Amino acid sequence: MANNTPSASVQLLEKLSRAFGVSGFEDDVRDVIAQFVKPLVDEMRVDPLGNLIVTRKGKSDFTLMLDAHMDEVGLMISYIEEKGFLRFATLGGWDVRILPAQVVKIRTRQGKLITGVIGSVPPHVLKPEDREKPFKLEDLFIDVGASSADEVQKMGIRLGDPAVPYYPFEQLSENLLGGKAFDDRAGCAVAIRALQELQRENLDLTLVCNFAIGEETGLRGARAAAYSINPNVALALEGTIGADVPGVAPARQPTALGKGPAITIADNSLVVSRRVVEALEKIAEKLKISYQYKLPIYGGTDAGAIHTTRGGIMAGVLSVPCRYIHSQFSLLRLDDFESTVKLAVGFVRECRELLS
Ligand SMILES: [Zn+2]
Repeated sequence: MANNTPSASVQLLEKLSRAFGVSGFEDDVRDVIAQFVKPLVDEMRVDPLGNLIVTRKGKSDFTLMLDAHMDEVGLMISYIEEKGFLRFATLGGWDVRILPAQVVKIRTRQGKLITGVIGSVPPHVLKPEDREKPFKLEDLFIDVGASSADEVQKMGIRLGDPAVPYYPFEQLSENLLGGKAFDDRAGCAVAIRALQELQRENLDLTLVCNFAIGEETGLRGARAAAYSINPNVALALEGTIGADVPGVAPARQPTALGKGPAITIADNSLVVSRRVVEALEKIAEKLKISYQYKLPIYGGTDAGAIHTTRGGIMAGVLSVPCRYIHSQFSLLRLDDFESTVKLAVGFVRECRELLS
């Protein structure tokens, strides 16, 4: 089947990575995802918050919710200077030290993407004692080449417009992909690939995929979607912290690239039900998929919001390890991605029997 080939996964990840989708402004990425999933599902709807919720009906009402968030960490124009420079706030968790000198795209209300660069005081002009210090957010501004606030307005840029550092997707080698927003377009791609794999199968449960808004700003979309979907079990699909890099001791590396999908036991937002962890382990072992545990207790995911919705929902997390998430350009290995798809598909097939 053509869509099983690695290159189909690469194309999918490229389209998702390139799409604009700063938290609260997920329209573009939602359109891209909707195009992929429409032929694969029985129902498709967008809820009032902007979550894209799609359903594959099966032989029973036992409902599995797969959740992947569409949004990416980004910026928001917070003030327009008289001379045409733009001040900005951050949306989601940024390390401000990595923002200076980055090329950004600002999305206007008309949907146009305008290029700018994050400027700061040049090193030549900085006082010697300040050269050692990292820039703070208030030292930074976006330069779009306008010379007045008027000119900024003529370009279509308004207060509150979202922006994001932008680097084009690239396949660095056969097994290594680089691009922005793998957190969580990797998870979105896992959900889409799982729907493709299961397209011709008569499922024994009802599968609902939620492509969520606003995870990076507080797990906002998943909480509301979990309430309306009311699943028996939920699995959040993530692109998570791969920290197998110099300067990080193994005991502090939440996940490493090349070790397969990461099963979460506990993070800052939940302690995963032992039954869900054991179901994932059992399925991985049966399918001979090598996996790793995400070291406790780094990060938080939509599963944190989902498991405390309504009277409580059994939830777990399965992740593709990605280096440099919450930065301009992250890296993931295609073999990790494909194994995560396999394990997610296995979970759809077996979770009703293991967890009902
Ligand atoms: Zn994420």
